[in-house]
Amino acid sequence: MLQQIGGEHVAVDVLMGPGVDPHLYKPTPGDRRRLNAADIVFYSGLHLEGRLAALLEKLSSQKPVYAVTEVLLKQHKERLRAVEGGEATYDPHVWFDVSLWACCVDDAAARLGEVDPAHTADYRRNADRYRAELEALHHEVKEHVLQIPKERRVLVTAHDAFAYFGRAYDTEVCSLQGISTADEADLGSVNRLVDLLAARKIKAVFVESSVPPRNVQALVQGCAARGHAVKVGGELYSDALGPPNTPEATYMGVVRYNVRTMVEALR
Ligand SMILES: [Zn+2]
Repeated sequence: MLQQIGGEHVAVDVLMGPGVDPHLYKPTPGDRRRLNAADIVFYSGLHLEGRLAALLEKLSSQKPVYAVTEVLLKQHKERLRAVEGGEATYDPHVWFDVSLWACCVDDAAARLGEVDPAHTADYRRNADRYRAELEALHHEVKEHVLQIPKERRVLVTAHDAFAYFGRAYDTEVCSLQGISTADEADLGSVNRLVDLLAARKIKAVFVESSVPPRNVQALVQGCAARGHAVKVGGELYSDALGPPNTPEATYMGVVRYNVRTMVEALR
């Protein structure tokens, strides 16, 4: 998002590369140097980057530090998914509802304009273009998931990252772990999902690029023991982008890749 809005005027330095799990990510000494060198720091927010919180807090006394989802808390709280237990916590995986992620674009552009007022007009223009692209993508995803018959439109993944996707795109979503990968998958949730997969004759489950595949493998084995063949339908990008110089190195590429992978495996 920041690269799209900032264009030629910004150099985006990304701390968490492909396959990195933000829930468990701990800053390295190199990260501290890079954060210190930045003019402005953006993070996703809603407790996604749990172990970076203290460092970001400290940094915010020295330079602008913004959660790109802060605007959702202020202006679209009713669209956030409250998480049980704990006070006022929300599911941070908002980017899987493309129309919700699009709500973060204007605020990010305004923040860039605050540190670089000379290019405010460019940031605003880029934001307008990008928001329109995201809105078109939102409708594209809605159309594509319809290729999966409604009764088989069930997305089973390692951790609970796809609830916003499910809500926006009329898809049932189940997972082994909770909204943070720090939560353990227990045997009960494996058995519960094996029951569901077998009963509904779901053809595929999905691993995630930023989560070890072993829990999902347990589901495949559990179903096999029950006489229901379920395959790993592919690797989805949940909390990390794909490798550099591939279409999946961008947010929009990731969304398209995920939907294509789901449709091919489940329809
Ligand atoms: Zn996650």
